[in-house]
Amino acid sequence: MVENKIIDGKAVAKRIRLEIARETEAVKQMGIEPCLAVIIVGNNPASRVYVNNKKNSCAEVGIKSLEYALPEETTEEELLTLIDTLNADDSVHGILVQLPLPKQISEQKVIEHIVPSKDVDCFHPYSAGKLFTGAPVFEPCTPSGIMELIYESGIEIAGSECVVVGRSNIVGKPMAMLLLAANGTVTVAHSKTPELKAVCKRADILIVAIGKAKFINADYVKEGAVVIDVGMNRDENGKLCGDVDFDSVYGKCGAITPVPGGVGPMTITILLRNTLRAAKESKNK
Ligand code: NDP
Repeated sequence: MVENKIIDGKAVAKRIRLEIARETEAVKQMGIEPCLAVIIVGNNPASRVYVNNKKNSCAEVGIKSLEYALPEETTEEELLTLIDTLNADDSVHGILVQLPLPKQISEQKVIEHIVPSKDVDCFHPYSAGKLFTGAPVFEPCTPSGIMELIYESGIEIAGSECVVVGRSNIVGKPMAMLLLAANGTVTVAHSKTPELKAVCKRADILIVAIGKAKFINADYVKEGAVVIDVGMNRDENGKLCGDVDFDSVYGKCGAITPVPGGVGPMTITILLRNTLRAAKESKNK
């Protein structure tokens, strides 16, 4: 188990980003400049922050980023046409469309329009299907980042009871697939799960992604369990907090991720790793 029980996502992310920077440099020496195209539509302030973080993170590891900032009134057709152009551009290796999109645009249609070989977010149904069959094209960003944090905790996934609370397409479901592939025994719980406390208490590894501030307290946690908190919420004072009541759980668990500084820094790190991988694989086309 990790020293002092807190799994330091920032430190793990920093380590992986150093590796990515080294590899990016090596790929550039081979004449390929890894490049991520980021599309943002409209003026959502949270989306603006996410896109800036992604661009800054790309710069930090030497990956080129291109930003396409489109106005709120952009039509679905205009966005799909831009994606067609980027799909066909060999100098672009990853394409990311920041969600949510304005209501005149179907998010599903947009996700399905990105060619799977550039789907570094791993949202395309083809990518999801490949993950399901155990041969992922890219790693789903948040769940793969969580796998790195579980490895950091020192717990053996094979043979462990893993409980994932939340079944979204972005976190819960792909998380379950990765744990299964690593030979965990996996339960996926959700808002209709009866006896949630008892289900969670079975877990050697408990992953919570529900979007409810401090919902999971010590009553849900087995003594010594590894607890991964994916939630990003604001508490009653407007302070960033997770889905887990850290103060309640800390004394009982074996290891825990803090919010902020746990899962958060990992998501973009895996996005960078996927972009680098896409660039490397473009060489074999
Ligand atoms: P969604 O809202 O898409 O899904 C939430 C899931 O939680 C649903 O499956 C829902 O069940 C379940 N749920 C809700 N309430 C309960 C409850 N009381 N008991 C049990 N299950 C419940 O959320 P996301 O998966 O997109 O995100 C979850 C959290 O993770 C959010 O706080 C989000 O901000 C954060 N997040 C953080 C990321 C990071 O990089 N750190 C990345 C992505 C998300 P049902 O299906 O039955 O409705």
